[in-house]
Amino acid sequence: VQMTFSGSPLDPADRLRGDQEWLQNRLNDSRSRFLPMWQLMAFVDAPKPTSLVWLAAVDLGEVEGTAVFLGLKDDVAHFAIDVDRPEGGEAAPYQSFGHFMDVRTAGGILGVGESGILARARSLIDWHKRHRFCAQCGSPSQSARGGYMRQCPKDGCKAPHFPRVDPVVIMLIVKGDKCLLGRQARFPEGMYSALAGFMEPGETIEEAVRRESLEEAGIVVGDVRYLACQPWPFPSNLMIGCEAEALSEDITLDRNELELAMWVPKDVIRRALAGDETLGFHLPPPLAVAYHLVRDWAERD
Ligand SMILES: [Zn+2]
Repeated sequence: VQMTFSGSPLDPADRLRGDQEWLQNRLNDSRSRFLPMWQLMAFVDAPKPTSLVWLAAVDLGEVEGTAVFLGLKDDVAHFAIDVDRPEGGEAAPYQSFGHFMDVRTAGGILGVGESGILARARSLIDWHKRHRFCAQCGSPSQSARGGYMRQCPKDGCKAPHFPRVDPVVIMLIVKGDKCLLGRQARFPEGMYSALAGFMEPGETIEEAVRRESLEEAGIVVGDVRYLACQPWPFPSNLMIGCEAEALSEDITLDRNELELAMWVPKDVIRRALAGDETLGFHLPPPLAVAYHLVRDWAERD
């Protein structure tokens, strides 16, 4: 299964994007295509989108925001460009060409491929907006290598800075024919999902799964098996999906992390996957890796 927010069809062409002259030519090339991002939203063809909308430089006009090279397709360069105005507060631009829509909704509708383009665009544009100064000396830094680096220009510092990817472990804890689902207070009403948490420096994926399972639900975990991962560009997470074998059953909740948690038998999970609305809870949507972790387990005998 390929995950939403992956599968970009563009060639990221790292061999070319370090060449400033090549990049500048492509930014001025009438064949190049630009995906405007306004308030970090996706630019799509309609309120019920069927595709992203790309603009030519002539339609884009003068924009001061950072341009990020997304890749090549049929030798045509594709860029995302931050079209927020510094003063903010204005109506959405380019309304005669398309609609702006939040990336999570648009990604879920557009599916694998175009959502992968959106993930890269959103994470990188967001990173540039929030990392305008050198973390080492505080000088204003500059975008470099097509947006895959920021360079400090100050003599004696010149530190390079690279975009972050923050790994998050997300684990379906299982014991026999039951799995553990929990809900955070911010989840939509009735939704339960696999437990998750940020990895910490100096630990393996398996150690992070065991630590989070114990911290959040008081469950001791033995074997951990990696299943699948998913970029989650809010702002720049990588969800690392695992299945974890519980060695204990009693739940002790950390109320700061989870509102509720419960063991759910496999036959009930199968009914939830089939859309049974009488269960009093529902699973995350198929755009989330958690859905696939649950489904993969439920479909096994
Ligand atoms: Zn610096």
